[in-house]
Amino acid sequence: METVASYFGSMVFNDEAMRERLPKDVYKALKQTIREGKDLDLNVANSVANAMKNWAIEKGATHFTHWFQPLTGMTAEKHDAFITPLDGGKVILDFSGKELIKGEPDASSFPSGGLRATFEARGYTAWDPTSYAFIKEDTLCIPTAFCSYSGEVLDKKTPLLRSMEAISEEAVKILSLFGKTDVKRVITTVGAEQEYFLIDADDYRKRKDLRLTGRTLFGARSPKGQEKDDHYFGALRTRVAEFMADLDKELWKLGIPAKTRHNEVAPCQHELAPVFSVSNVAVDHNQIMMELMKKIAPKHGLACLLHEKPFEGVNGSGKHNNWSISTDTGINLLEPGDNPKDNAQFLLFLSAVIKAVDEYQDLLRISVASAGNDHRLGANEAPPAIVSIFLGDELADILESIASGKSLSGRKKGKMTLGVHVLPDIPKDTTDRNRTSPMAFTGNKFEFRMPGSSFSMAGPNIGLNTMVAKALKEFYGVLKDADDFGKAVTELVASNYREHKRIVFNGNAYAPEWVEEAEERGLLNLQSSPDAFDQYTAPKNIALFGEFGIYNAKELESRCEIHHEEYSKTIHIEALTMLDIAVKRIIPAASKYASDLAAGINQMKAAINMVSPIADEDILRKVISLTNELYGSTNVLGEVISEAEKLSGSLQSHYYREEVLPKMEDVRRFADNLELIVAKDYWPLPTYSDMLFYV
Ligand code: ADP
Ligand code: MG
Repeated sequence: METVASYFGSMVFNDEAMRERLPKDVYKALKQTIREGKDLDLNVANSVANAMKNWAIEKGATHFTHWFQPLTGMTAEKHDAFITPLDGGKVILDFSGKELIKGEPDASSFPSGGLRATFEARGYTAWDPTSYAFIKEDTLCIPTAFCSYSGEVLDKKTPLLRSMEAISEEAVKILSLFGKTDVKRVITTVGAEQEYFLIDADDYRKRKDLRLTGRTLFGARSPKGQEKDDHYFGALRTRVAEFMADLDKELWKLGIPAKTRHNEVAPCQHELAPVFSVSNVAVDHNQIMMELMKKIAPKHGLACLLHEKPFEGVNGSGKHNNWSISTDTGINLLEPGDNPKDNAQFLLFLSAVIKAVDEYQDLLRISVASAGNDHRLGANEAPPAIVSIFLGDELADILESIASGKSLSGRKKGKMTLGVHVLPDIPKDTTDRNRTSPMAFTGNKFEFRMPGSSFSMAGPNIGLNTMVAKALKEFYGVLKDADDFGKAVTELVASNYREHKRIVFNGNAYAPEWVEEAEERGLLNLQSSPDAFDQYTAPKNIALFGEFGIYNAKELESRCEIHHEEYSKTIHIEALTMLDIAVKRIIPAASKYASDLAAGINQMKAAINMVSPIADEDILRKVISLTNELYGSTNVLGEVISEAEKLSGSLQSHYYREEVLPKMEDVRRFADNLELIVAKDYWPLPTYSDMLFYV
């Protein structure tokens, strides 16, 4: 039997393949380039390209592509065949170092937020050798970064790599103060738990709203939803189990360590979590994972929905971004240590996260903002739009006692200092998990729970890495010349906690009381995406990204513009789809039902000569009245769409949010009420019960 070990990573040009196929000196040179993040020498590149090509061709590849992540949040690829024609009608299969390092896609059709006019559309892609090349179907995919010729960044990978550099540099400096001079690099790690829905492919095909917008724009609630909690961790349907097995196998071939799979809370909802890896690799892997989910589902007669809220009334889907930092010597910096010094170090890094999250709440909020995610955040199934940190009572007590200089109640006596003598005994395993916190400390990592299921994980991690880099940099400034280092660390941890503890909240973040309390604490509550995007270019954010060379002001402004635009386009498409379905499908169906009812009523009356009203008459009246109201609401929606089209930028996205969305809700309400009384045979769309409880 074919074992997992035998095919795991078989479609990846990974370290093993490189060592096997590259001349020793080339392999060494490449590894050094990767380690130090230098430019690749062209001779080395030629040799690598040749080995990679031969490897890929042996595996059946015919094409190659620079696989990159434009600002759409998806991945993009343009395939080129390896062939070079020869005289006499023959071809050779060719792939040069130049082609490996650089590609030149036509960048004109990707969103750039006004960074380039289309006539100067050429951008280039550059290989990210820290993320291995892989084969997808018949194509060798080379993970790359994407820039314009004038040097502006046009993708999500470049800033991510820069943010990883930034935090590494600052963390290494801090570690040197702790005497850890052997650490040359610090790595951010990410494990992304992916939620998704699977429904029957036939139902999917029949729902134009799902096909065009990813979510159902209509649909009365199913009599049964998720109230019985009978889906979470339940046994898998055969078809779903087969899909998951197929998916795991394809992921494993690509070296993606898919690990945990289970049913989620909502009917038809599932989750897949891989073992964590270095951030940029984890982000690439998550993109591939989403792509494969969509591709493999139809092979099993299913459709995979990655939208944050495909169905009203049951939970939506998120993506938990588990995040930590570790050294190249293998130490997780967010794991409590075994001795006082390591604990002091742990508390310092923890303090940096607390400070960063408090000072840049807005950035984290922005990094998870989208039209889709607006349906989740704050809807009692996902964290609120307010950013806060869960530490657990024990850890919060420790920090509190350090901050107040008072002794720790209960378990630990004596004044807390982080010097060599008295050390806080830090619990290694904070088992009291809080599932309502947006940013939960889970023992050796933070779980950032706000991102939406369809998100690229690049955005949230760019924000996290950069803001923590900033906090570490400030800490270094305070500590570097301290006479008594141990004392200085204690004081810093103490004052930092006093200053930023408002961001720490260990209670139930879904509770309405928290919204009030958060407001008293002065925490931000950016309820909608347009509200959040408006903060993107706040002076402090421009300063932050500028300081670490992640984005310049112009790039940040362009990204802000793209976010507003993307939001407006999403609602625009939803609204038009809604009109289309209401006017062309639902109203005709309801009218047909009404006229059939009327005819039937007349027949019945004639047959038995009855004068008093019958049930059908009552239904007929309701159908006619709701159909009229529905029609009226579509006209109103049409009007606000026309108004929205005249606007642009932030004004436009706010208009969509504040004026168009409520009108869409009206249309939906009338249609859903109709669905409840129109006979099943007449209804033109698969219903919620059909979709959520298929067999
Ligand atoms: P839960 O559902 O309780 O949140 P899971 O086991 O489903 O937990 O997911 C935890 C995720 O966190 C996994 O993807 C795991 O690999 C990841 N993870 C574990 N340690 C780290 C770390 N040091 N850095 C980043 N991610 C981590
Ligand atoms: Mg989780």
